[in-house]
Amino acid sequence: MKAGTIAERAAEPRKSALRGAKAPGGRGVSASRGRTAAPAVLLSGVTAAPVPSPSVPGPTAGSSSSDGHGSASDHPLMTAHYIRSRIGKICVAITGATPADMLRNAEEIVRENHFVEFRLDYLPNPVAIIPRLKTFLYERGEVTAVATCRRAATGGKFKGNIAAELEVLEKAALAGCHLIDIELQTAEHLKPAQLKRLRSRGSALIVSYHDFESTKDLDKIFDRIQPFQPEFVKIVSTAKTLTDNVTMMRFLERRRDEAELIGISMGDQGTISRVLGLRAGSVFTFASAHAGEETGAGQIDARTLREAWRIDQIDASTKVYGVVGNPVRHSLSPLMQNMAFRRETVNAVFLPLQTTRLSDLLTLAREVPLQGLAITMPFKSEILKHLEKTDALSGKIGACNTVVRAQDGKLYGFNTDVAAVVRPLERRLQLKGAKILVLGAGGAGRAAVFGLAEKGAEVFVWNRTAEAAKKLARQAKAKTIRKELLAKTSFDVIVNTTPVGMRGVKPVSLLEPKEINARLVFDLVYNPIDTPLIRMAREKGLPVVTGVEMFVHQGARQFEIWTGKPAPEEEMLRVVVHALRQAAGSNERS
Ligand code: NAP
Repeated sequence: MKAGTIAERAAEPRKSALRGAKAPGGRGVSASRGRTAAPAVLLSGVTAAPVPSPSVPGPTAGSSSSDGHGSASDHPLMTAHYIRSRIGKICVAITGATPADMLRNAEEIVRENHFVEFRLDYLPNPVAIIPRLKTFLYERGEVTAVATCRRAATGGKFKGNIAAELEVLEKAALAGCHLIDIELQTAEHLKPAQLKRLRSRGSALIVSYHDFESTKDLDKIFDRIQPFQPEFVKIVSTAKTLTDNVTMMRFLERRRDEAELIGISMGDQGTISRVLGLRAGSVFTFASAHAGEETGAGQIDARTLREAWRIDQIDASTKVYGVVGNPVRHSLSPLMQNMAFRRETVNAVFLPLQTTRLSDLLTLAREVPLQGLAITMPFKSEILKHLEKTDALSGKIGACNTVVRAQDGKLYGFNTDVAAVVRPLERRLQLKGAKILVLGAGGAGRAAVFGLAEKGAEVFVWNRTAEAAKKLARQAKAKTIRKELLAKTSFDVIVNTTPVGMRGVKPVSLLEPKEINARLVFDLVYNPIDTPLIRMAREKGLPVVTGVEMFVHQGARQFEIWTGKPAPEEEMLRVVVHALRQAAGSNERS
């Protein structure tokens, strides 16, 4: 870029977060800041180059201004444009119980993420970190830092009053933090002179609002923030439904041209806003450093957002899929399907969609729109009446686990559970004439009994509630069997379709060793991989099929229905097994 162009661009007035907004009476904050040029290295288009932090002459030097605090005129200005040129789409929240702890965590995170938020309110004495924070930021010119010291009254952890919060933030700005974050309630309490003084420290300002209960009045909140002319407007609501994400995204689309906006909905139901909010207009989103270190409800860890969900690559044409159920927070489907999308270079993202009401899902599916769904408990039957058409098996079984939006925009249903029970067994024995015991008569039990009976197996159903077993046996042309007969009956295969043995489910003994008289044992439960039933079978020297094989198989067929491409099944198996082993390891350690 030519020098002249740099000069011209440097002379441009500050691009406020609130375009065209008027500063409150006579404060002149905008005008005085506007005359200060951003560092030329950034204006030349070389983005995110290491440059000094806003007001840091060096780690050991004193403050550069006569009042000992620095001033707007002698520091590079943190314009929204400048900040945007340095940051990616993810700001990672850093916590810690002590300054050393927080900086150690930051040290690790900035190896992969150059945009971080120091949650100073997590420290018992936030001011204590300032000298070391200054050194940290000076030595890492590539890092862009937000300082937040949210008071307890506005949902943070800081016990001090507004004056104490301001003191911490001013010091953080002078230590080199590029942005400081204050709550709207704090901003509204400040006198113009206090705000002016805070602004004079050279950092960009984020004015935030957090609603811990609901997603409502987003425009009104925006209009309250507007007079403060911050470089960034941040509105965080709480999603109580999936539809609340739509409310947040529509708001972002509506107001994105008026401000540099950050919009997120918290909670398990708000995941979509954390990902799709970016394409609706949120400048960036927040992530936790690691799972378990969330600073907001429903926050996702940075690595999952970046590597698994490929948040940096989501654009207007990215297709959106999801697993719907209650609960789905620990579902491995997002990990498995996103890996498959990445591997097969499909521009798509797969998200957990937690809801208690199907109508809520249907609104989301229409508004986003969603291209496909994996359906889990408790919606596998209820979804049927909302589909244009289903495959013959879904209709017969009365359950559908896969939905796809066809080119006509309508939703079609399939059942991949059936093939996922049948296929692993077909690989190991001939099903025609095989004698198979199915334990359970719920959704998965129905898929197993119908699928195996259809292949010519002689199927026996046992269920805790005998009536359900009888009904299923009648419908699928199978037989029922009483528990007391199991010890004296031998089968080719025993299939468990109940949740007994699943992590988090009360441990009860389904079968005694003497009741396992079979050539092969198949447990649909996949978490943990080695269930009590699988262990018992192994102890008897029997071959086994684990639920992981079924899980990956049904997911692979879903992938094929959605994309029309062959699924990378081995890779899908690898990531699922790896995740389950890791989960088992951390469970043993805790
Ligand atoms: P569901 O529709 O709720 O059915 C549960 C069945 O298990 C019912 O027959 C129920 O009997 C029985 N049951 C529940 N608790 C029991 C207990 N303590 N003792 C004996 N029987 C009990 O659930 P689902 O959708 O079929 O899922 C069942 C299991 O299959 C879950 O663990 C799920 O993770 C697993 N599954 C795995 C895959 C996979 O890909 N590997 C796919 C689908 C499902 P009652 O009729 O008496 O209530």
